[in-house]
Amino acid sequence: MHAVMARRRGLAVTHLEREPEGRGASVRNFGLVWVSGRRAGPELALALRARELWESIAADAPGTGFRPAGSLTVASTEAELAVMREAAELPDAKQREFEVLSPADVREVNPALRGEFAGGLWCRADAIVEPRVALPALRAWLASPGGPGYEWRPGREAVEAGPNGVRDQSGQWHRGDLVVLCTGANFTGVAGPHLAATGALAGAPGAGGTGLRRVRLQMLQTRPFAGRLTTSVADGDSLRYYPAYDVPSLASLPPQADVAAANRAQLLMVQRLDGSLTIGDTHEYDEPFAFDVDEGAYDHLLARAAALLGTELPRVQRRWAGVYSEVTGTTALYHRSTVTPGVVLVTGPGGRGMTCSPAIAEETFL
Ligand SMILES: Cc1cc2nc3c(=O)[nH]c(=O)nc-3n(C[C@H](O)[C@H](O)[C@H](O)COP(=O)(O)OP(=O)(O)OC[C@H]3O[C@@H](n4cnc5c(N)ncnc54)[C@H](O)[C@@H]3O)c2cc1C
Repeated sequence: MHAVMARRRGLAVTHLEREPEGRGASVRNFGLVWVSGRRAGPELALALRARELWESIAADAPGTGFRPAGSLTVASTEAELAVMREAAELPDAKQREFEVLSPADVREVNPALRGEFAGGLWCRADAIVEPRVALPALRAWLASPGGPGYEWRPGREAVEAGPNGVRDQSGQWHRGDLVVLCTGANFTGVAGPHLAATGALAGAPGAGGTGLRRVRLQMLQTRPFAGRLTTSVADGDSLRYYPAYDVPSLASLPPQADVAAANRAQLLMVQRLDGSLTIGDTHEYDEPFAFDVDEGAYDHLLARAAALLGTELPRVQRRWAGVYSEVTGTTALYHRSTVTPGVVLVTGPGGRGMTCSPAIAEETFL
């Protein structure tokens, strides 16, 4: 997104990627452009600006798969529905395009939801993109004729930063008016000395838990589902994790199921363009992270998805885990710092990075 926003400002870009193709959080996520759960104030404003930018970027790069599908957060109990009603009465509910729906209305908005539930919260501002194909689609637009110049350099790892430049593993220096390190959850390597020297990591002595940390999530994708989900879908557990639902009645929710609580799980479900369903997620905060995936969490998420759809799910075709970097213990929405003159590090958007990336990149060039 920094390359996209740089090009929009008429700047030529050289884009280094250590892998042959991006394989970090930006391709492992749901592709949810998620306005609904954002905290009131600057976080919601950033997400709304990003939502607007995504739409205009997708007009140039339709391969990103942007669609203004909206989302439905489905209440299984009256207690969850009470939280939704309260959230829908807050002053910013209009900006999120919230509407509380009866079970019959939920089924009308998204006829694939044929299970039993108490109602739902429709957020028309939410949208979906296709993470597995968005990066190449954006690069195709960046490289299209008439632009200021875009050079894609996969297989190049930045190993050292100096004023207005980085050196890659082959020894070549790449220089520019501005270098933006978007190294994701990689806290060692080129950004490592800077992060250590500035005490930017939450685990650093004296940091008091404030700063950057890493979070690991488990995900899966089914084979194509016969029905069509008209919106993305969340279950009531998501009310516990998104700050938009921090309303008084939240305290009345009973505890989560043990397996969900142990894995900090919430159901999020997105239908991909080929009909398959991306289902997640879990949250693991303590490092070292597990190197393997936990079936108990998957059993829980699959059962929740089947209950909302009111039918059996297609076979799982793939499972994976992803790690993002997140700022914690601060009101900052992401991390930006100067590494050396002409070199900035931008990371730490957490679980809102796919949503907010165009707006974050825009702020870099303000
Ligand atoms: C499972 C999962 C689900 C998520 N779901 C959502 C969602 O639905 N909606 C949402 O808004 N957010 C979501 N997020 C969060 C979002 O995906 C991230 O915040 C965002 O993608 C982070 O982008 P990034 O560019 O900082 O990091 P990354 O996407 O990880 O990219 C970093 C890139 O830098 C490369 N790199 C690292 N070091 C170097 C180096 N030295 N030289 C060259 N290249 C280097 C890496 O190879 C990688 O390609 C999710 C995250 C995960 C893990």
